[in-house]
Amino acid sequence: MLKSFFSYSDIPEVAQINDMIFYKKLRLQDEDFSEPYRERQESEPLFKLIRQYAIENNIEELANAQHVASQYINLLCQLSSYFKSLKAKDYKESWNILQDCLDSAFWIGKYTIIENRYEIPQILDLLTGYESLYPYKIFASTEMVITKSECSICGKPFQSLDCPHIKGNLYWGEVAIENVTEIKEFQAVALVSHPLDKRCVMELSDDTRTKEEKFRLLNEFLEQQIPAFQLFSIEIQKTRRQRPDIKIVGRNNKCPCGSGKKFKNCCGQDLYYEHHHHIIHLRERILFQKN
Ligand SMILES: [Zn+2]
Ligand SMILES: [Zn+2]
Repeated sequence: MLKSFFSYSDIPEVAQINDMIFYKKLRLQDEDFSEPYRERQESEPLFKLIRQYAIENNIEELANAQHVASQYINLLCQLSSYFKSLKAKDYKESWNILQDCLDSAFWIGKYTIIENRYEIPQILDLLTGYESLYPYKIFASTEMVITKSECSICGKPFQSLDCPHIKGNLYWGEVAIENVTEIKEFQAVALVSHPLDKRCVMELSDDTRTKEEKFRLLNEFLEQQIPAFQLFSIEIQKTRRQRPDIKIVGRNNKCPCGSGKKFKNCCGQDLYYEHHHHIIHLRERILFQKN
């Protein structure tokens, strides 16, 4: 749908947005992450006018395409905001922005055929690479019983016989969303590794590590000064290492820690640990395409 939006370039507002996207891409390529949401703010009134024009002229395709294009600008702005937060070492906050970026990129992909996705598949590749640098592996996910919900478009009970809308589909530039109006009960909070929404991260309250320690891998990666839009993959090499703090004695001797047990039944069992060595493989850089 992105390409179809740009094909309406005889509409002045579409041409203006086209230029805006072009300059935003230049800004990203130059790693200028200042005022990350400037283009989103500037384009908002233009998108409104385009949608109005589409409705008045009965062109649903344009109404929907402008919505996808607005999400595209949104994604480019979120990317700026993400790298800005990394530069400021706001690691915790950057995780949420990263999730916003992933949501937008998936969303645009959903409405755009593969050949017209521009650099979005590469952006997804980049974002999942960054995601793997964070220490977050377990997330909280709530389970609840929803008893009432409404369609965001017609306001009728969602997916009842009265509501013809399909969840997640676009109608005249609006997405059909299920608005929950009544929850009967919260049943549980589950700890999962693959939730729909990864913004609920699990952290230990007595974790006293510094930011640099907690986000060691991400921090080390950023210290390499790798260009923001350089694709990479992380290879983990596992090696068995001997713990330097344990003194080795014969297996059947008394353990040097003073427990009175045999070495083989005490500290001898913790003699080795698995060391994870991360190797960064650099790949090509994302080149933003002209619309
Ligand atoms: Zn509906
Ligand atoms: Zn011992």
